[in-house]
Amino acid sequence: MKMEEIEYELFENGVLIRKAIIKNVKPCIISEGQISVLLQLDKELHHILPHLAVKFPPGKVNYLDKKNILTLSIYERLITVYPSGKVSMNKTNTKEESIEIIKEICTLINETHLEVKEGKTADYMALKDKLSKIGPLTIYNCLPQTDCTECGETTCMAFAMRVLSGESKLYECMLLHEMGYVNNVKCLKSSLGNKIMEVLGWKI
Ligand code: SF4
Repeated sequence: MKMEEIEYELFENGVLIRKAIIKNVKPCIISEGQISVLLQLDKELHHILPHLAVKFPPGKVNYLDKKNILTLSIYERLITVYPSGKVSMNKTNTKEESIEIIKEICTLINETHLEVKEGKTADYMALKDKLSKIGPLTIYNCLPQTDCTECGETTCMAFAMRVLSGESKLYECMLLHEMGYVNNVKCLKSSLGNKIMEVLGWKI
């Protein structure tokens, strides 16, 4: 039997997305007891997805240029966003949870739409290319390399790897906030650039 669609208002005055419809709910095939949810947003996202893709650390995103399909590995699940505004989400507990999460993603989509409209987006191809060339050593070489463990990792290299995978954020390296390590921050800025620093969790 076909499920009855449920429409949710996400934002009364959203600059692009305002509503999401839950089109289908099925048992999640990779996580017993959880569901997979298929949603439809009320606008197409062709112009947004490439710019959205470069807002996440490399380990969190898979973007298919040719098809303009973005898969995010966030909130401990896979979320695939299609240019038509269709969104699939697995490993979800309830329909309401899927709406809470889609609302957060749509906040970012609406912000990105505004940036595109105002011509404030970075050159995503250049950014994508640069992000794909960053390895753990790029980050590690600029870290304090004290293995102090204050970030919760046992070594600076482990921290660098987690930053790249999106599991840790650059600002969690405590020493980078101290005066004695300003040159390390400068090193990161010159190797990565401000935009990628932000993507990797540095609060500018
Ligand atoms: S807090 Fe910074 S310096 Fe200390 S182990 Fe973590 S990454 Fe290395």
